[in-house]
Amino acid sequence: MDRRPVIDSNRQVELTTRLGEVRARIARACEASGRAPTSVTLIIVTKTWPASDVRLLAGLGVRDVGENRDQEAAPKAAECAELNLRWHFIGQLQTNKARSVARYAHAVHSIDRLALVSALDKAAAAADRRVGALIQVSLDPAADLWAGADAAPEPDRRRGGVAPGEVPGLAAALAASEHLDLRGVMAVAPVQQDAGQAFERLAAAAARLRSEHPSATWVSAGMSGDLEAAIRNGATHVRVGSAVLGTRPPLG
Ligand SMILES: *Cc1c(COP(=O)(O)O)cnc(C)c1O
Repeated sequence: MDRRPVIDSNRQVELTTRLGEVRARIARACEASGRAPTSVTLIIVTKTWPASDVRLLAGLGVRDVGENRDQEAAPKAAECAELNLRWHFIGQLQTNKARSVARYAHAVHSIDRLALVSALDKAAAAADRRVGALIQVSLDPAADLWAGADAAPEPDRRRGGVAPGEVPGLAAALAASEHLDLRGVMAVAPVQQDAGQAFERLAAAAARLRSEHPSATWVSAGMSGDLEAAIRNGATHVRVGSAVLGTRPPLG
C-alpha cells in the first residue's frame, strides 16, 4: 500500500514561489551589506499552519522552523520527527512548559527571566539534550527605564524581552547552566518605530554580549516585513512566516 501523504500541488506551487521570493530578498540584502548569503539562516515560522505545510517546506530544503506555542509545536514536531528539522521556539514560554519544549527545541529564542533559565536547564537535563538559548531583548527605548526601577512592570507582564542592561545577568546565568548553550540575542522590532533604529540597538546589545561571551554569535531578528533592515544590522537568523505561508488565519 502506498502510504505517502497526499501532496496538495497547489499549495506546493504557492510555497515554492513564495519561498523563492524570500530567499531572493535575503540574498539581495546580504549582497547590499557585503555579507555572504550563507551568513543568514532562514527560519520559517509555521505557527497556525498544519504539519502538511511543514512537510512541503522540508521538501523544498527548509531545515529550520519556528513555533510560538508549545500546545501546537509539540504535536507538530512529533508528527514531523523523521524530517530531522531544527525547531526554534520563539514565543513567550511559561516555566511549566519547559519540560515539553526541551524535548524537541533546537533553540529557545525567548529567554527573558532567571526562573526560565533554571526551569529549562533542568528540563534539558531530564530530556538528556542540549538546548540553545537566546536572550530576548526589548527594543522599546522605555525598556532601559524599567531595568531595576521600582515601577518596572513584572517580568511576566512585559511582553517582548528584557532591557539591554539586563542581558549580562541573564547571559551569566545561561553560561553557568549545564545543559543550555548561550547562542545570542533575539528581538522583535516594536510596532510604529523605525525597524532600522531598533535593530541598531539590538546590534549594540549583541556586540556587548559577544565581548563577554565570544561564542554567543546569533542575532535573531527580522520578520516578513523587516528582514532587510535586520540583515543590514547583522541578523544571523531571520524568522519569516506570512511572506512564505500567507496571512495567518485569525486565532479562533
Ligand atoms: C509570528 C512571528 C514571526 C513571523 O512573523 P511574520 O510577520 O509572519 O513573518 C517572527 N517572530 C516571532 C517572534 C513571531 O511570533
